[in-house]
Amino acid sequence: MRLNPHAPVFALAQGGVRVGIANPITVDDLSTRESAFVATLEGGRHVTDVDRARFPRALAALEAAGVLETDRTEGHGAHVRVHGMSRTGRRIAAMLAEAKIPSLALTDSTFRRAHAAASSLATSAPWPTVVAGDDRQADVTVIVAFGSAAATVTRDLMARDEPHIAVLADEAGTTVTGVIRPGTPPCTACADLTRADADKHWPLVAIQCRGREPGARAGIDDAAAAVAVMAVLAHLRAEPPSPWMRVTRAGIDAITVQAHPACGCAELSRS
Ligand SMILES: [Zn+2]
Repeated sequence: MRLNPHAPVFALAQGGVRVGIANPITVDDLSTRESAFVATLEGGRHVTDVDRARFPRALAALEAAGVLETDRTEGHGAHVRVHGMSRTGRRIAAMLAEAKIPSLALTDSTFRRAHAAASSLATSAPWPTVVAGDDRQADVTVIVAFGSAAATVTRDLMARDEPHIAVLADEAGTTVTGVIRPGTPPCTACADLTRADADKHWPLVAIQCRGREPGARAGIDDAAAAVAVMAVLAHLRAEPPSPWMRVTRAGIDAITVQAHPACGCAELSRS
């Protein structure tokens, strides 16, 4: 048990403490020793049996206020794959390592590039196990691509019943899908089919996106990576799916993508 590791603990003038800023909880009626003890919990230190024996009243007050959470590591035991080792793909992998995801697999259409990215990340971030190109079932796969996610990749993930999220760059920005759960539309194929309805050339254009990469775009790449990582972490916490987002120089906006009647993704996982 611990406090939210990001919640500050403030001493109050009349004794007692306040925990947090956005959703502050005030606990009055604490002795000086009890207030000092609560201050030691800032940063997410775990409550020990000694703490329980010495400060039962303070802990009961925190528990009653609902500010103690059960012990957990974000993404505990999780295995996440990042496919596509562009600059944004490598940035996403590094951010997942910083978030202490314990196991990462990096893949790419070129194994040499996946291997180089995995070696580099394993050197700079000691926490996760990083491998290049594994076939183990992942809790979620991040697909990083240009323009459109390759159907060969997404079809394989659908068939494996593996949740995935696509980070699709173009010259004006990056679209970050929500985490797509097989059997729950819309999927990336829904988006491509919808686009093809409005643009007859899109299927041929989408195929020619393979192997392309955008140049580095200050701000947009990092923002898109952050949006994708937040969606992955929310998925690992079993929170509701994040909306699809569009990241441009103007900012970050939620976008709506409808299920396409010709896609059949809803049936795929049931077959
Ligand atoms: Zn679909």
